[in-house]
Amino acid sequence: MAEWEGVLRLGVFSSLFVALALLEVWQPFRRASRRRWLANLGLLAIGSVALRVVFPLAATGVALWAQQQSWGLLNQREWPALLEIVIAVVVLDCAIYWQHRVFHRLPWLWRLHSVHHTDTALDVTTGLRFHPIELLLSMVVKSVFIVALGAPALAVLIFEVVLNACSMFNHSNIALPNKLEHSLRRVLITPTLHRIHHSQRVEETNSNFGFSVPWWDWLFGSFRAQAREGDTAVRLGLPGAQQRAGQLLALLILPFRRESNWPRNKT
Ligand SMILES: [Zn+2]
Ligand SMILES: [Zn+2]
Repeated sequence: MAEWEGVLRLGVFSSLFVALALLEVWQPFRRASRRRWLANLGLLAIGSVALRVVFPLAATGVALWAQQQSWGLLNQREWPALLEIVIAVVVLDCAIYWQHRVFHRLPWLWRLHSVHHTDTALDVTTGLRFHPIELLLSMVVKSVFIVALGAPALAVLIFEVVLNACSMFNHSNIALPNKLEHSLRRVLITPTLHRIHHSQRVEETNSNFGFSVPWWDWLFGSFRAQAREGDTAVRLGLPGAQQRAGQLLALLILPFRRESNWPRNKT
């Protein structure tokens, strides 16, 4: 699986990145300075290297290992392959929704996750802007779920590729036609919905935690269809974080600074 897995991941990632970046030039939702790109893509590069070093097996490797050991619920008996994939993708997506809520809830996790929220504008690169330690913790959580569930490696690959694609899409700075926005938001977290999550208002940050489908937010009561000030006027970022929001080194040490204790949310 390893060789074509890398090609598939890189192929989907780079083609979607280019497509969304072009759409942002053609149909931008609002002005977004590209000066932030160096910091956002720098975090992505450091995070990717850290993941490769600390978890050389990667999430699909963990799934294959669990299968060899016959660990996990789905590895206890034969299930139809498609059913196993659907169950695993749904469970992993729900786990990521709750992980996101917990990252907002616990002070030390919020410090890490606030690096994502300090971005002063939203575009495709914000979907890749996460502190490396948040990425590593996220991999630990995912691995625990993969092993407990006995998730098939193919399901893990589908989940990761789709989640990455959804994250780039829902952070993108594109103006979707109203009709498309309203049909899409029934099945997908749209940029307008996720923009509310990046609002400076605490009660708005405390909503729309989903990265892919809006259904978890509906189910667990965190869905917010509209921003209080209107979708076009949402103030993005964290108050007071502006000066350091675009500096790579400052972002890496941000969680360890005393003043990075922004008001967080009660979930
Ligand atoms: Zn968040
Ligand atoms: Zn976000």
